[in-house]
Amino acid sequence: MEKIELTFLGTSAAMPTPQRNLSSIALRFMGDVLLFDAGEGTQRQLMTAQVSYMKIKAIFISHFHADHFLGLPGMIATMNMMERSDVLKIFGPKGIKKRTEQALELALMKLEFPIEYIELKEGKMLNEKNYSIYAFPLKHVTTCFGFTFKEQDKKGTFMRKKAEDLGIPVGPMFAKLADGKNVKINGKTFKPKDVMDYSQGRTGRKICIVMDTLASTSYVKHLKQADILVHEAVFGDDGIERALKTKHSTARQAAKLAKKAKVQKLILTHISSRYKDTTELVKQAKEEFEQTEMAEDLMKKEI
Ligand SMILES: [Zn+2]
Ligand SMILES: [Zn+2]
Repeated sequence: MEKIELTFLGTSAAMPTPQRNLSSIALRFMGDVLLFDAGEGTQRQLMTAQVSYMKIKAIFISHFHADHFLGLPGMIATMNMMERSDVLKIFGPKGIKKRTEQALELALMKLEFPIEYIELKEGKMLNEKNYSIYAFPLKHVTTCFGFTFKEQDKKGTFMRKKAEDLGIPVGPMFAKLADGKNVKINGKTFKPKDVMDYSQGRTGRKICIVMDTLASTSYVKHLKQADILVHEAVFGDDGIERALKTKHSTARQAAKLAKKAKVQKLILTHISSRYKDTTELVKQAKEEFEQTEMAEDLMKKEI
């Protein structure tokens, strides 16, 4: 099974600290790199983590607050200098094209490679052969989206030899059967189960990334049974008032949602600079959901 690798590039909220950079997570799968948020300094973190910024296929910006967005123009400038020619897809809330182009213009940048801008809405945003990306709305002080990476389900393996022995001609009929459709040859119907080994099937892996939001059950349905839920936890129990006011979450609230959604593992990130030591935050979260850990800058997780 091809591994999915998550790299935490920045785990601080609002402002960086010597230990934590601003928000960004890289996901690497089958040669593609997907970037979720691009806080200031993201490109240098990518280099340190040895994740190729040139292989970034798409960037997903959750919202336009500085700590999630301002690393984008600098990174595009570097791609430009390195003579990138592949199209770069940038997803973000309404206004993503205008805002990014304004930033590029501010820096006198003459773009030499194609960028495709896509405004986020709830639902499937990117559909690739091996995976899809979905977006869903969060509850922050400005429009903000969460994301789901979903590996395509494996239905099973196609038994080529058996298909040939049954006299099914090599070609498009193979694909049809593998896709779950019947085919007819000289009046005889063949069913997918005649040529598929379903014992090889499995459900695709799922990773959810939830950045700035008031913890809310409104988006739990999107997190169901995720292998990994990455959730913001700006505050601990002591910051619950601030969390409500600024529309952020506490570690405990994130853990309660993880439990409700029956995820396998919760990783907390986007931590306020006021917590030099995060032991208490992890403890509070674990009281609700044991499978919790704290993200650190440059930490990698493989599933
Ligand atoms: Zn933030
Ligand atoms: Zn924000």
